[in-house]
Amino acid sequence: MSFLLASMIAIGVGSLFLGLLIYFSDSKNSANKIFTLFSLVVVMWIISTYLVDHPIVNEMALFWNKLNFASAISMAIVIFYFSFYFPKKSNFPTTWKILYFIISLILILLILFTNLGIEKIEFLDWGTNASSGHLFYPGLVWAIISIVGLFINIGVKYKNLDSNEKLQLKYLIYGLILSIIFGLSSSALLPIITGQYEYAKFAPVGMIFLIGFTAYAILKHQLFNIKVILTETAVGLVVLAIFIQTLSSKTIGQGLFNGIILILVIYGGYLVIKSVLREIKFRQELQMLTDQLAKANAHLKDLDKMKTEFVSLASHELLTPVSAIEGYLSMILDEHLAKVDDPKAAQYLDRIYRSSRRLARLIADMLNISRIEEGRLMVEKKDVNLNELIKQTIDELKFKAEERKQRVVFEDIANKLRDSSATPQNDNYMTYADPDKIKEVIVNIIGNSIKYSKDPGTISIHIEKAPTEKVQEIWAKIEDKVKDQPLDDQEAIKASVNEYYRQFVGKEQLLIIVKDQGIGIPKEELTKLFKKFHRVGDYSTEESQGTGLGLYISRSLVELHHGRIWADSEGRGKGSTFTFSLPDISDKEALLEIEKQVPNQKEQLKPLAKPMNEKIGEDI
Ligand code: ADP
Repeated sequence: MSFLLASMIAIGVGSLFLGLLIYFSDSKNSANKIFTLFSLVVVMWIISTYLVDHPIVNEMALFWNKLNFASAISMAIVIFYFSFYFPKKSNFPTTWKILYFIISLILILLILFTNLGIEKIEFLDWGTNASSGHLFYPGLVWAIISIVGLFINIGVKYKNLDSNEKLQLKYLIYGLILSIIFGLSSSALLPIITGQYEYAKFAPVGMIFLIGFTAYAILKHQLFNIKVILTETAVGLVVLAIFIQTLSSKTIGQGLFNGIILILVIYGGYLVIKSVLREIKFRQELQMLTDQLAKANAHLKDLDKMKTEFVSLASHELLTPVSAIEGYLSMILDEHLAKVDDPKAAQYLDRIYRSSRRLARLIADMLNISRIEEGRLMVEKKDVNLNELIKQTIDELKFKAEERKQRVVFEDIANKLRDSSATPQNDNYMTYADPDKIKEVIVNIIGNSIKYSKDPGTISIHIEKAPTEKVQEIWAKIEDKVKDQPLDDQEAIKASVNEYYRQFVGKEQLLIIVKDQGIGIPKEELTKLFKKFHRVGDYSTEESQGTGLGLYISRSLVELHHGRIWADSEGRGKGSTFTFSLPDISDKEALLEIEKQVPNQKEQLKPLAKPMNEKIGEDI
């Protein structure tokens, strides 16, 4: 047997097997039915290709040629039909489908039963050579139209498929393209160029691509039922073999032994099939749940966006009247402007005033959060002298700190050096940032230190330089710790600003470190502080009322400056240390380069919202 014949038989059998497998995997599915029809046409094509050159009875040679031509065209027609149902049904008008079917049927019948397609044949020493009739080229054109239609059809529906369906379709397309190229070159191109039809007999070899790729798509991407059929077939074959062996046993003992094995194998096979079915059911359910989850997730994202927009709008509308209430109350309470005679009334008014101030602060915080999350916060960076900025902020907070018996000291090493030594080596620490935003961060941190210190103590601040790697290492450890925690707690490290802003810049970072001797923070709470609304324990006393938003806003502002913020504490009663990093001024160019890549902000940029009449640290 020649190699060509052997490979044709292999491809024919493979094609038939695949066709039947797909049919039995789901015989009600139109795509499966049409694919099976296609594989049968392929088998017909392969057989007729062989018979064209080995007609057995010479009188039949002309018919084999016609059958060969007709089945080649039919393949294109059937696969075009297939594309209407795979992987999803398309909405193509039925009338057009029927019209196409009628024309195709007439064409095939004419080719098969008249001499219009193949006119006559001549016998040559390698087989037969056919002369084309009037319908030969129209037939070819019809096949080409079908193939073009197939690709248009696939192209139109491609974008609406899910990723798995797209992948399935891709494998089918790869197989098709390779088979078509191979088939057309050997059965049309070469014969037309050389005038010899001898090469046509190689055309079926190209089917190996289509069969191979489709089989791969099916096995790899689990058209589930096929797994069951394969398992059932395998179990069936084993049972059959043992059954035959049992029947042909020579002695009773052997028969008994084989019989027992048969029963065991039947039971084992039953278990295997059952477990495969269970696994498939499980996978299908999993697939369904995954799809549902993806949909729910998309819906949640939409809702979240709507919520942010609503909060932004509502806060904006609320801030103005609340600030007005706060403003007038402060005027009533100011002895120079108004007089409240009843001390009780004055006390109540004072309470209302404090509450309205807190309310205004809360609204401003919410507004700021929505501005940050929507990328609408105006950030105006410039060269900033951190030493100066910190000193200025401390001056503004001094009064509040003294009220709570806290001493705020800035360990201004750079300036100390300048004062004490003849040759100052250390300049002030310079960064490239929006001073207002950095001030907000410092106020939040020092404000917390004042707020969460019960006994008299010292709050110390200092700046130092650290290698970027060290900061990255610290942050990686925090991320590792947080990733093991529930999803809700993971919010504490989820970026609230564009990832470009969060990129570290340069080899060194400036660290601003604030240390207090306050109430401290339990270790397990350290990473959670930076998510929205998180507050440790229960500090519902008048003094320590807060919103749990300050550190989230601080984190977002620091991240807008390519930095990170984290907290350390040895535990309750042992004080806390808050550290945040900022880039060094020397890396300004690199920083500007990165920020150029941030996608354009969609809407108008807005400054940080602050309640009217706000004095720094008022809400501490
Ligand atoms: P707020 O202070 O409005 O509650 P923050 O986001 O600023 O919100 O702080 C979150 C929580 O972190 C606080 O409620 C507090 O429990 C804790 N915290 C912040 N700073 C300190 C600190 N210096 N010492 C102890 N606990 C702190």
